[in-house]
Amino acid sequence: MRAEVIAIGTELTSGQSLDTNSRWISAELAGLGLTTAFHTTLGDVLDDHVAAFQTAAARAGFVITSGGLGPTQDDLVREALALAAAVPLIESAECLEAIQALFVRRSRPMPERNRVQALIPEGAEPLPNRTGTAPGIWMKLGSSTIACLPGVPSEMKIMFHEQVVPRLRALGLASGTTFIRKINLFGKGESEIEAQALDLTARGREPEVGITASEATISFRIAARGETPAEAEKAAGETARIILDRFGDLVIGEGDVDVPQSVLVALQSRNKTIATAESCTGGLMSAMLTSIPGSSRSFLGGVVSYSNEAKTAFLGVPRDLIAQHGAVSPEVAAAMAQGAREHFGVDIAVSTTGIAGPDGGSETKPVGLVYLGLADASGVKTRKLELGPDSPRDVIQRRAAKQALNWARLIVSGEPG
Ligand code: AMP
Ligand code: MG
Repeated sequence: MRAEVIAIGTELTSGQSLDTNSRWISAELAGLGLTTAFHTTLGDVLDDHVAAFQTAAARAGFVITSGGLGPTQDDLVREALALAAAVPLIESAECLEAIQALFVRRSRPMPERNRVQALIPEGAEPLPNRTGTAPGIWMKLGSSTIACLPGVPSEMKIMFHEQVVPRLRALGLASGTTFIRKINLFGKGESEIEAQALDLTARGREPEVGITASEATISFRIAARGETPAEAEKAAGETARIILDRFGDLVIGEGDVDVPQSVLVALQSRNKTIATAESCTGGLMSAMLTSIPGSSRSFLGGVVSYSNEAKTAFLGVPRDLIAQHGAVSPEVAAAMAQGAREHFGVDIAVSTTGIAGPDGGSETKPVGLVYLGLADASGVKTRKLELGPDSPRDVIQRRAAKQALNWARLIVSGEPG
C-alpha cells in the first residue's frame, strides 16, 4: 500500500516556512508499514487542491493532508474535498458542538466564521480535535482513503495518533511494523562505500538499505519490515551484522553518533584522555567534543593557537621551527600535538594547522591544505589532507576537525580496551 502526504499552505510553497509535518507523517507511516511514495506541497489555491486530491487518490491507496482546515478564506480543504468527490458540504452537528464547547472552555465567544469548520463533505467522517477548533476529515475518495488534519503540528500529531492510526488499523491498511537502524561510517567517500555495498543497496532488497551522506559521515539506513516488532528488529539486525563485518573500523556508531562521540566512547572504554591543539579549525574540535555530555571524563582541554606567537607561548613550538617550515607544515603540526600532550598531561593529543581560505593559499600551499598531528605514548605522527582548493572555509574547517578526531579514534581503538 502506497501513501501520499500533502502539505497545504502558501507559507510553505513560498519558502516562508518549512514543511516539517510531511517528514513527521512519513516517518510515522513507515512505522505502520505504509510506504510514502509522494510528497506534494500546495499553495492556498482551490483548483490546485482539487486537482492534487484527485491525482493523489488515483495513485495512492492512502492520502493524508495537513493544513488548510482553519476558519479563514485561505483554508480550502473542506471545499476542495467536496468538489473532488462531487458531493455537497453539510454541517455536522457533532462538529459544531465540539467547536462551541472549545470556545466555552476558553471563555471566549465563538466568532461566526468558525462555523464553517463544522462543514464536512457528505459521507465523510469528522475527526475530533480535542486541542484546537479545526476538526479533521476522514473519507473515501475514489478507491482511496483520505485523512485531512490541521496544520498546527501539535494538533496534527495528537490527531494522527488518536484518530488516524486506529482507523488505519481497523481497515487493515496498516499492518506490521518497520524497524529502522542507522549505521554511521567515516573515512571513505560515499561512492567508494556504496561500491562495496551494491548488493545491500539494490532496489527491491529486503530489508531495504539506503545510503546518505552528511558532512563526510556516510550512513546506511536499514528499514526492516515485519509482522511483529521483534521480527522486524531481527531482520534489521541480520543486515546490520553484514554492514558491521564488512566495514569494520570505518563504523563510528549508530543513530545520532558522529565522529566526536565515537572518539569519546573509544577513549572512555580504555580510560584514556585527550587534548587538542588547533590552528585552522579555531576550536572546532573542542566544541565538537564538549557538545557531547560526559566529555569531561576524557577531554582535558585545548589550545586555539591561531598566531605563531600563540603556538610558541602556549604549546612550546620552537620559533625557529615555524620560521624554517612555515606554520602550515608537518613539523609544526607535530610540535603542536606534542606540546598539547605535555601541557595537558594526556594520553593522546591531536593538532590541526592549515589554510582554510578563501585567501592565503599559494602554489605550494593551496587553500585546503591541512596538516594533522597526533602525539601519544608511541611518539608523534602527521598526516596531510587536501580538502580544497574550492571548498568553502567552513567545510574545510569541519572536515579537518572530523578527520583529526577520527584519526584519534582509530589510534585509540587499535589499542586493547
Ligand atoms: P493551517 O492549518 O493551514 O491554518 O496551518 C496552521 C499553522 O500550522 C501554520 O500557520 C503553520 O504555522 C503550521 N503548519 C501548517 N502546515 C505545516 C507544515 N506542513 N509543517 C509545519 N508547520 C505547518
Ligand atoms: Mg493554512
